[in-house]
Amino acid sequence: MTKTVTDVICPFCGTLCDDLEVEVSDDGKQIVDVYNACVIGAAKFLHSQASDRVKRPRMQQPDGSYKEVSYDEAVEYTAKMLASSKKPLMYGWSSTSCEAQSVGHEIAEQVGAIVDNTATVCHGSTLIAVQDVGIPSCTLGEVKNRADRIIFWGCNPCHAHPRHMSRYSIFPRGFFVNKGHKNRKVFVIDPRVTDTAKMADYHFQIEQGRDYELLSALRVALRNEWLPDTVAGIPKEKIYEAAEVLKSGRFGIIFFGMGVTQSLSKNHNIDNAIMLTKDLNEFTKFSIMAMRGHYNVTGSGQVLGWQFGFPYCVDLSRGFARYNPGETSSNDLLRRGEVDAVFVLGSDPGAHFPISSVKKFSELPSVAVDPHITPTTEVAKLHVPVAFVGVEVGGNCYRMDNVPIEARKVVDPPEGMLTDEEFLSRVNKRVKELMEAKK
Ligand code: SF4
Repeated sequence: MTKTVTDVICPFCGTLCDDLEVEVSDDGKQIVDVYNACVIGAAKFLHSQASDRVKRPRMQQPDGSYKEVSYDEAVEYTAKMLASSKKPLMYGWSSTSCEAQSVGHEIAEQVGAIVDNTATVCHGSTLIAVQDVGIPSCTLGEVKNRADRIIFWGCNPCHAHPRHMSRYSIFPRGFFVNKGHKNRKVFVIDPRVTDTAKMADYHFQIEQGRDYELLSALRVALRNEWLPDTVAGIPKEKIYEAAEVLKSGRFGIIFFGMGVTQSLSKNHNIDNAIMLTKDLNEFTKFSIMAMRGHYNVTGSGQVLGWQFGFPYCVDLSRGFARYNPGETSSNDLLRRGEVDAVFVLGSDPGAHFPISSVKKFSELPSVAVDPHITPTTEVAKLHVPVAFVGVEVGGNCYRMDNVPIEARKVVDPPEGMLTDEEFLSRVNKRVKELMEAKK
C-alpha cells in the first residue's frame, strides 16, 4: 500500500510550485512517484532516494581520498575553523530554509564572517538597481489573473522555470483573462531562438549585450519620439509597434533574468527596465519581476534583510553590518585572497564560480554542507551531508515574488542524518563556547 502526500512544495526553482503530489510507501520512507512536478522538480525528489547517497560526513585526506567522520567530529572541525579564522566567507543559503539561514547568520555574527548568497552571481545586480530606483512589482497571482501583456527579457522559463508559464504567466485562465493564452500577448527579448521565444507573439532577436539601448528605445517609442532606423539590431517600426501593443494592454509584466543581470551594463539594464515599467504606468498598469533562480534565494535576501538590513554581500567582520558589492562579494573576496576560510551551504560555487575563485577556495580550510556530491564538496576539506529541505524536512521559503510558502516534509531522512538547521545549531553552540574561551 502507498499513500499520497498532497500540496507538496517543490524545492528547486523560484517558481516554488506548491501543488505537487508525492506517492510514498506506507512506512513513509520511500518515494514511489512524483506528480505535477516538471522533470527537474521530480528529479530532485527521486534523487534523494539514490542508493549511492553519502550518509555520513567525509573528511578529505592529504592523498585526496575521503575518510568517514562522525557528525560530532564534523561539528568540531567546522566550529574550530570558523572561530579561529580572521575573516571567513559563509556562502550559499539559497537552497535551504529561512530557519537554517537564520542560525547560519547567528554563527556569522559571532565569528565576524561575510555572509553572501547566490544573488552575488545572479540577481545581485537587480538588488542594486532596486536600491537605486525602487520597484513596481506584484505577485504571481496577479499575473495569472490579470496580465494580458507578458515580456520575458533575457530569460528562458521553458528551461529554467518550466512550470512558470503554465501556472502563472502564459497559459492559465485567470479571473480577468479567462481565455488564458488567447488573452495574452507574449514578447521575448533574447539573442537566441529559445524554446520560450518559439512560443512568443513577438520575438526580438536583440544583438548580444545591447539591452540597455533597446530598453531606452522602448521608452522613447512610448512617447512617439524619434528613433534611428535600427536599435540593437531591431528595426524601429517593430519597436514603435511593440510600444503600442504594450500601451494597449490592461495589465503588463516584465519578467527578466540572467540575460540582463549578467550582461554588459548589469544593474543599469535593470534600473532602465524598472524605469520603462514606471513609464508604462503612465499609459496602463505595468509591473516587473526578477526570475529568481533557487527556490529560496529570495528568502535568503529577506532573512539577511531583517537581521542586518542588507540582502547579500553582508560583511560582519567589524562587528556591525557593512554592504558594498564589488568589495564584499564572494568572488571579489576570493580572487583578492581576502578570506581565510570558506563555509558553503545550499549552493555549488565549485561548479558555478569562475575557476580563479575555485582555485583560491581549494587552497583554504573549507566546509561544504550539501545532500549531494557536487564539484564544491569535492573541493572542500569537509563534506557534511544533510537532509533535503522540502523532501525530508520542512521549513519556510520565499517564492520569486516574495510570497512565503511553508515547505512540507514528505519522507524521513536516512537514519541518523542531520538537517541543515540541526547541524548549524550544533556548530553555533560550539562556536559560542570557543568564542567565550577566547575572551
Ligand atoms: S517549475 Fe520549478 S518549482 Fe515548479 S516543479 Fe519545476 S523545478 Fe519545481
